[in-house]
Amino acid sequence: MRKITILGATGSIGTSTLSVIEKNPHAYEVFALAANANVNEMLLLCLKWRPKFAAMANAEAAASLRLALKNQGCATEVLSGIEGLSAISEHTDVDTVMAAVVGAAGLIPTMAAVKAGKRVLLANKEALVMSGQFFIDAVHQYGAELLPVDSEHNAIFQCLPASIQSRPGICDLASEGVSKILLTGSGGPFRYTDLALLQEVTPAQAIAHPNWSMGPKISVDSATMMNKGLEYVEARWLFNASREQLDVIIHPQSVIHSMVQYRDGSVLAQMGRPDMCTPIAYALAYPERIEAGVRPLDFSEVGEFTFMKPDFNRYPCLKLAIDACYVGQAATTTLNAANEVAVEAFLQGQIGFMQIAEVNDAVLQRAELSQPSCIKSLLEVDDTARVMAQKRIMELTQ
Ligand code: NAD
Ligand code: MG
Repeated sequence: MRKITILGATGSIGTSTLSVIEKNPHAYEVFALAANANVNEMLLLCLKWRPKFAAMANAEAAASLRLALKNQGCATEVLSGIEGLSAISEHTDVDTVMAAVVGAAGLIPTMAAVKAGKRVLLANKEALVMSGQFFIDAVHQYGAELLPVDSEHNAIFQCLPASIQSRPGICDLASEGVSKILLTGSGGPFRYTDLALLQEVTPAQAIAHPNWSMGPKISVDSATMMNKGLEYVEARWLFNASREQLDVIIHPQSVIHSMVQYRDGSVLAQMGRPDMCTPIAYALAYPERIEAGVRPLDFSEVGEFTFMKPDFNRYPCLKLAIDACYVGQAATTTLNAANEVAVEAFLQGQIGFMQIAEVNDAVLQRAELSQPSCIKSLLEVDDTARVMAQKRIMELTQ
């Protein structure tokens, strides 16, 4: 039995992870669950899964969960704050940690799992975007096993040889015959929308992704293609890819989850239904294969595959992310933080859809992008970018 901690247990990835575990009850045991502040959902999960620990980011939420569990006679011990999340990630009894907290908040507890040498199933893309080389160095220094869950990175990983799979971030693509990694993206709900109308799209329209069901933040990021930008940075670190080795291509059907092109002209693609249970099951069981509860892909139902180049006028956030990737660590940390603030402001109705890119661009231009020397200085870069993004939002809304 593998003992698992799930960070972000109440979210979209957390829910899919529990559904895969439910299909394989003899192989996995839920050791600990963590979430932000949703006490009711966490209570239900604890009563169902009876984990040894539950952790809530918010101390007040932790106190109410503790009381509710006591009233129900459930022995789950409740921890709180970033220390609580880190404690259940590094606990000696844990084999595997699913890192599925959304946003920068995921960095420290994910790092705790890495530093404890766990098998880390990495759904949270922001950790690598924020900390890149620091994260990769820690994986090797502490002997952690890193398995990408983000569907594109999981697809690329599946299309690469074992010699690369076992050396995340330090592999040499060219020496294994790889010429290019092709990162596919659906283009989001507005890929065919008239450019002039993009100013007016609402949060509800932006969240309604045509193919995937995901949390609100990543859904907005998919609509701006910032998600693909963050994934570009994530892929650069995971696969030690150079600019020439990494391309983004729009594939509206979301059946091909990404591809790897080899020197001899071969292209390997991983395909499947757009259902995160597939990459989650793959990462949980690697190198074995388990039941994920996903219907087989029916090609006659899919019909056609189409592809197109991303247009940076439609997706300015994608361009900002690709450029930031080659400016350096401070730039991607800054962009990630600014974007989190901008997306939240968009979801709250404070700014328009196209203003997300405006805020991100302004913060990148104004920020002082000197190379951070440690995680603490990265977190300072993150804080500064958030303040700058708030300021830009105020300017835009006055
Ligand atoms: P979500 O919004 O559905 O869930 C987020 C989870 O994180 C919730 O359980 C929430 O309680 C928890 N959380 C939020 N802030 C927290 C904090 N400060 N401390 C502790 N927990 C906190 O998000 P999601 O769609 O499940 O995405 C999770 C992560 O996985 C994101 O980084 C996203 O980019 C990545 N991802 C998601 C998908 C997908 O299909 N949903 C695909 C690829 C990658
Ligand atoms: Mg993805």
